[in-house]
Amino acid sequence: MLHKRFIVALALMFGVGILSACSIQAVNASAPTETAARAVASAAEAMPACTGKAEATVSNAEGPYYKSGAPERTVLVEPGMSGTRLLLTGQVLTTDCRPVAGAVLDFWQANDRGEYDNTGYTLRGKQFADEMGRYRLETIVPGRYPGRTLHIHVKVSAPGGSVLTTQIYFEGEPGNESDGLIRPSLIVPLTDAASGGKAATFNFALSPN
Ligand code: FE
Repeated sequence: MLHKRFIVALALMFGVGILSACSIQAVNASAPTETAARAVASAAEAMPACTGKAEATVSNAEGPYYKSGAPERTVLVEPGMSGTRLLLTGQVLTTDCRPVAGAVLDFWQANDRGEYDNTGYTLRGKQFADEMGRYRLETIVPGRYPGRTLHIHVKVSAPGGSVLTTQIYFEGEPGNESDGLIRPSLIVPLTDAASGGKAATFNFALSPN
């Protein structure tokens, strides 16, 4: 009997010890410095966290309107261009969450009437991710065209790596329900930007070569 009580007491002490250790870790993890907290908050606002492992971004149809040779630029909006301004930002990462510095992002999209420029390079642009894999695209919210919901096309590649061709879609669009190409993991919220217009964030996760 005494032996059993001793074992129970030992088990209780051991359990409390583990719980204490866990709660200390939890407190430490949730109490960063003020500066770190601000950095974490702004990063969280800017883009979803990638910690440990991310699912590779799925590929999606290229469609018939890709043109190589787009100019290098981050601003696709031109003077007098109609449409709602859209700031699209994010990061190019590997599936183990490492930034892909120098990744190439080649965007193309329809104008607000759902038309592509197939003779020139309007609303087409190529850019390089910075040392943290970040990109920034100033464009407009694309228009719908028959059979398709709102979407932006992009080709993303790591230096020397293979090319991911995919599309970015926007949450809450009525056309999403009937679009045959849309994939849930490619849909991002379209929020109101502080500077007016809309904003969206999409992070790419590239599989290792
Ligand atoms: Fe398209």
